[in-house]
Amino acid sequence: MNRTVTSAPESLPSPYFREEHELLRRQVRRFVETEVKPFASAWEEQGCVPREVLRRMGELGFFGIRYPAQYGGSELDAMGSVVLAEELGRSTFGGVAVTALVHSEMASVHIANFGSAEQKARFMPDVIAGRTITALAVTEPDAGSDVKSIRTNARREGDSFVVNGAKMFITNGVYADLYCVAAKTAPESRASQSISMLLVEKGTPGLKISRALDKHGWRSSDTAELAFEDCRVPADHLLGREGGGFYAIMRNFQNERLVLGAMAMGEAQEALGLTLDYVTTRKAFGSTLYEKQVVRQRLAMLAAQVEAGRQLVDCTREVSMVKAYCCELVNEVMYACVQFHGGMGYMRESTIERMARDARVHSIGGGATEVMLEEVAKRLRR
Ligand SMILES: Cc1cc2nc3c(=O)[nH]c(=O)nc-3n(C[C@H](O)[C@H](O)[C@H](O)COP(=O)(O)OP(=O)(O)OC[C@H]3O[C@@H](n4cnc5c(N)ncnc54)[C@H](O)[C@@H]3O)c2cc1C
Repeated sequence: MNRTVTSAPESLPSPYFREEHELLRRQVRRFVETEVKPFASAWEEQGCVPREVLRRMGELGFFGIRYPAQYGGSELDAMGSVVLAEELGRSTFGGVAVTALVHSEMASVHIANFGSAEQKARFMPDVIAGRTITALAVTEPDAGSDVKSIRTNARREGDSFVVNGAKMFITNGVYADLYCVAAKTAPESRASQSISMLLVEKGTPGLKISRALDKHGWRSSDTAELAFEDCRVPADHLLGREGGGFYAIMRNFQNERLVLGAMAMGEAQEALGLTLDYVTTRKAFGSTLYEKQVVRQRLAMLAAQVEAGRQLVDCTREVSMVKAYCCELVNEVMYACVQFHGGMGYMRESTIERMARDARVHSIGGGATEVMLEEVAKRLRR
């Protein structure tokens, strides 16, 4: 059975994408096929994506999709980020996708959106070129979903902030060069006014990588616990307004949620494609699995849901809905795809096994489903 019979692997045309988005899609897809897929199993073993690969992504323009041309960006819109995330999601290596997307869509956006002209001129060209890799450090051992309750503090002393505290689950945390760190600069103020964002460069005395974390999935993405011990950060490394960090984080979460939703839908499309390939050749009880109505109907329904998820991503009106829906759906897709691969789906040698492990975090990271649904519920009430 031909894969294109179902709509899942090949996306339906969307009115939201223009020619430049399709050009970008083809470019990312080519890069993924030739420069990611053949090598990324080794990166899963190493626990990180090699720097030369990230530099290559920078050269190809993947890290500057929405950024100003003056720093080397291409000034596309949010749909450009959606295309990048979806196509990296289709790589089948969630760890590779998230390494790139945290850098370009979740961490460096703090500099692009809130940095001063000097900060942007100093950091953005290298960020976009992939010479400087960024991480976003918000979560702490005792505060994840509840951002306001972070405890890392930054005390002003002369022309520095002295940072103390710990950060947990930080993507790119081991190998990043530049960290956008949330810290309380006014712990006595109202929680929403108490947080500021600081740029902390790798090598700043007092910034320690406490440990590299070993994860269930996303194994080619490096994740760290960080410690700040009297870490002295120059006052001109404050990003945006002092006390404006909470709003900056919330604003950038919008993009983060959209991008994670798009990444999840890329993964779901690819998983359905792989599973269709499998069930159309695997035989049991005298026919292919695809010829069993229950199998093809389940895949057809999931394909329909993934298309619905993609359309939701494309609208971008309600990003909490996108995040909740797509990140639960990708796990439903993975469950069915592992199921239809049978025993092979449980073996480390099969792609779908990795994809199912990688997808699990989608409903937790970047805003847990329950937290997203609270956001949606708030807007349901009139
Ligand atoms: C692989 C990975 C990479 C990450 N990368 C980064 C990063 O780069 N930077 C960063 O700052 N953080 C990062 N995180 C942290 C991530 O954003 C948090 O894990 C997430 O926000 C959830 O926080 P938590 O783990 O502390 O869970 P908690 O906040 O302790 O919540 C635990 C669970 O409780 C439930 N829950 C929470 N709140 C509610 C509620 N209001 N109502 C109902 N149920 C609720 C949810 O099911 C949730 O999963 C990463 C996490 C992982 C696992």
